[in-house]
Amino acid sequence: MKFSRSLISTIKDYKKEDTEGGLRSQEYLTRGGFVHQVASGVYDFLPLGKMMLDNIQNIIKEELNNAGCVEVTLAFVTPSELWQKSGRFEKYGKELLRFKDRKEQDFVLSPTCEELMVELAKSKITSYRQLPMNIYQIHLKFRDEIRPRFGLLRGREFWMKDGYSFHDSEEDMLREFNLMEKTYKKIFARLGLEFKVVEADSGAIGGSGSKEFMVLANAGEDTLAVCKACEYGANIEAARRKPKKHKDEATQKEEIHTPDTKTIDDLSGLLSTPKDRFVKAVVKKALFKEETKPVVFFVAGCDELEETKAINACNALAFEDINEEEAASYGITLGFVGPDVDVELKYFDEELRERLGLIVGANKKDYHIKGYDIPKDGVFKDLVTVQEGDACPRCQADLTYAKGIEVGHIFQLRDRYSAPMEAKYLDKNGKTQNFVMGTYGIGVSRLISAIIEQKNDEKGCILPLSVAPYQVNVIISNVKDQTQFEAATKIYEELKAKKIRVILDDRDERYGHKMADFELIGFPYAIIVGKNITEQKVEIANRATLQKEAVDLSEVVQKIEILIGEAK
Ligand code: ATP
Ligand code: MG
Repeated sequence: MKFSRSLISTIKDYKKEDTEGGLRSQEYLTRGGFVHQVASGVYDFLPLGKMMLDNIQNIIKEELNNAGCVEVTLAFVTPSELWQKSGRFEKYGKELLRFKDRKEQDFVLSPTCEELMVELAKSKITSYRQLPMNIYQIHLKFRDEIRPRFGLLRGREFWMKDGYSFHDSEEDMLREFNLMEKTYKKIFARLGLEFKVVEADSGAIGGSGSKEFMVLANAGEDTLAVCKACEYGANIEAARRKPKKHKDEATQKEEIHTPDTKTIDDLSGLLSTPKDRFVKAVVKKALFKEETKPVVFFVAGCDELEETKAINACNALAFEDINEEEAASYGITLGFVGPDVDVELKYFDEELRERLGLIVGANKKDYHIKGYDIPKDGVFKDLVTVQEGDACPRCQADLTYAKGIEVGHIFQLRDRYSAPMEAKYLDKNGKTQNFVMGTYGIGVSRLISAIIEQKNDEKGCILPLSVAPYQVNVIISNVKDQTQFEAATKIYEELKAKKIRVILDDRDERYGHKMADFELIGFPYAIIVGKNITEQKVEIANRATLQKEAVDLSEVVQKIEILIGEAK
């Protein structure tokens, strides 16, 4: 490709304020001319973006096909009945874009395709002889995200690889789940990423047993708890810890006057008692399919409630905060709520089980109770946010926080979709059985941003060879110099013939401008053909190190071949 014909247009005068959040990846994607914003969370892919998308897709396809998966392309517009059947029409909330066609029939734009794929499997896979089967596609998705941001990291329209596997047993599904974990690791390694596989919450997709693939980057929206010593890592929404030990003593139960003392900090000060001896109550207004109800969660005074764990515990669609008046209308005295509060939905953190002699709210203004024993018949769930310094559940070393960008997610679905959607096959004995399923996603367009977020410097992107639109940029320092022009064109043609992805910067622009574009876009190597061509010399510039090396013209193609080969 010749630069002059490439539709690559870089932006020099870029206002930082144009980038919500100030992420480098977003700035460089826009300035480098990879994408063009059409609407909030909706982007055109310009040639550089499109080529990166294709390169990423090809690596994904190669590894998946190698692992025995088959590729299809499913419809993007899907009838809402399918979503009613699976029960996700309500559960998915406003991210699901719904609309009517001219016949007033309801449709949705696919945010993910479990329903559609299960329907397909139902009609095409009828016998155990066809199992196992792992079917995937790489296609557009639409989620009407509340806050689309950070460029391609959180779009509304975006590209996803979504795969679904069908099995006749739990063991076989687990085998495939492990195979997909291995395959995903290969894919992300080939993309040049530093990543971590972590335990995860299963979210709206449902099912249990899920892992996320996180690209480690400060800009990540996900907080991870990772062990300093072993491999353990988990999304904070699902992180576990070795349960804390407390020195409890049963004491006489008595009511104490605690005027205007609503927070654990204030109470702990007032009563000169450590925070872990208190029970903290967190009240939420929970939205369920058909109603709204208050729910009270109890955790130790030294702990915080993890909202995703809490939502899962009571199976709510979402939470809203509750104010004092509203709480009072349910008979709840905020600031003084204790385990004996008269509400239907109450949950205790697992680590409160069997604890004795604690200080809890008395459910009346300005009073608490001392010497309270946690009821044995309470409903106990894991509700706490793991903190830095807590002990790893596997090896007991310290846990610490890291930030990650979720680029992949694999789930063990079991019959979460096949049962409600009645997707069955005939087993060996001629009996109908529900498919046992797994599902596997990769954020393909998000990966472009994630790669750049991890691989950049103050000048621009540092693209890995495997995904760079062009691996080599042959820069003609002065296009009016015929010798430079001819030598550069010859190098370009030779590299092209060797199937190296190469671009020839043949623009009538200043050398400095061309170098700045090379650094901004981040092609891995540049060959600079300048004045020294009269001595049969050119330079190779390495984008990652920004170092330049003088090379004989006769050797440059071979040198580049070696550099690219070595890096593979
Ligand atoms: P997130 O927690 O980031 O919202 P998710 O858990 O909702 O993501 P999944 O349903 O697991 O996402 O989708 C599979 C993959 O699709 C994710 O791992 C992520 O890489 C990608 N993805 C999800 N939402 C978006 C989005 N709005 N824009 C770009 N990629 C996305
Ligand atoms: Mg996810």
